Amino acid sequence: MAKRDHQQTVESTGHMRVSANFGRRFALTSDDTPEHAVQARTSGKRLRPVTGDRVLAHTLEGESDWLITRILDRDNELVRPDARGRPEVLAANIERIAVVACPSPAADFFIVDRYLAAAQLMGVPAIVVWNKSELGDAPEDALAYRHIGYTLIETSAKNRSGIDTLHAALADKRSIFVGQSGVGKSSLINALCGDERQRTADISHGSDEGKHTTVAAQLIVTTSGIALIDSPGVRDYAPSIQDVAHVGDGFIEIARAAQLCKFANCRHRAEPGCAVKTGVEDGEIQQRRYTSFLRLAQLTRQLNEGRY
Ligand code: GDP
Ligand code: ZN
Repeated sequence: MAKRDHQQTVESTGHMRVSANFGRRFALTSDDTPEHAVQARTSGKRLRPVTGDRVLAHTLEGESDWLITRILDRDNELVRPDARGRPEVLAANIERIAVVACPSPAADFFIVDRYLAAAQLMGVPAIVVWNKSELGDAPEDALAYRHIGYTLIETSAKNRSGIDTLHAALADKRSIFVGQSGVGKSSLINALCGDERQRTADISHGSDEGKHTTVAAQLIVTTSGIALIDSPGVRDYAPSIQDVAHVGDGFIEIARAAQLCKFANCRHRAEPGCAVKTGVEDGEIQQRRYTSFLRLAQLTRQLNEGRY
């Protein structure tokens, strides 16, 4: 009875946040006490909460699961097309995106660009992390992000170099780690949290379902006040972009140059008076980033026409 009273107190203090989802089950925490997780479910398939969501939930008579009744408005969503090209929300209410790449598996900067484009289009700040730096320094293509205006931090989760710098860069905001699988996202999160890691998704009375299902994304809040969401490793990633005309907005330097194009609807391909093409010729815009932009525009067109 005492436990139930405590849960109702938590409920009455306001919203809960989804800190992990395991298939149809969810871990909920309160932002004030992220170390106390409760397990929850929805009443049907209509509600599809994701990690980072704020929800309304309440306890049920004779049940240990809480019931989620409402998802509060999302500030933003990190979306990717699923295997059939339909948008799938990976996480919500994200305040910063940390894109991780490394020497091995070989960095795919087109994937880095796509995550950066997603952040840009969501209006969320992004940083680039070059991990496993003890295996090789950041190459030109990585250093180029600094010229565009991104913070690039070189780390090694293995020998802990750069971890303090990364920790400082992650202050105050809820950050999601993204990148190809195997780049060291989980290792970095472990290195950042150290002993103060609070596994907010650990649920003592968790069902077998909760224990054995892969966690799609998990929110970890440390006692030093950083909040990190790891995300499932991906082989490839593309942001979901409704209108191909918006793709250029995802590339800071291209969006900047595009303001000077002769035509407002310039596609930056062969149009006369294209400031983006001029920028590439002058070397102000990196050829690789321009190619990346063209590739994402092409992919977006295919996704939107259902040809992917
Ligand atoms: P994730 O899939 O992005 O979460 O990557 P993991 O954190 O699971 O790491 C993938 C592999 O890379 C593991 O074998 C880690 O031990 C290794 N790894 C992670 N960080 C480093 C690092 O800084 N240096 C080296 N050499 N290996 C690392
Ligand atoms: Zn143009």
